[in-house]
Amino acid sequence: MPSGHCHCGAIRYEVKGDPVYQAVCHCEDCRRNAGAPLVGWAAYAAGSVRVVQGEPKTYESSEHGRREFCPECGTGLFYTNEKVLPGLKDVQFCTLDDPEALAPQVQVQCADRLGWMDRLETVPRFDRYPSSE
Ligand SMILES: [Zn+2]
Ligand SMILES: [Zn+2]
Repeated sequence: MPSGHCHCGAIRYEVKGDPVYQAVCHCEDCRRNAGAPLVGWAAYAAGSVRVVQGEPKTYESSEHGRREFCPECGTGLFYTNEKVLPGLKDVQFCTLDDPEALAPQVQVQCADRLGWMDRLETVPRFDRYPSSE
């Protein structure tokens, strides 16, 4: 059964079966909450996600949106929204033990997508940092 964890390891979870979808989200809420340009989400039936260690803290990030994160290290883990995504639990799939296990099928909330994302492929790449090449 696929499992995942926060950065510090205090929270561990398991997911059962396949997600309903996998997406990267460009919305302002995700960006601001994660401090990152986009966030990867895999939506599972709510009952298919089980926390097996620790207890996430819940942050009410919007009227109906609830973001669960590790209170020790701050890693974002889950998102639920009974209004928009009833019965589903979004998992930040890059917290899976194997973050390559799932790949996004769609990009959502592209109305909020940062303009420079279009040019990212043209930005020079380094395996680590420029100075170590
Ligand atoms: Zn943690
Ligand atoms: Zn979002």
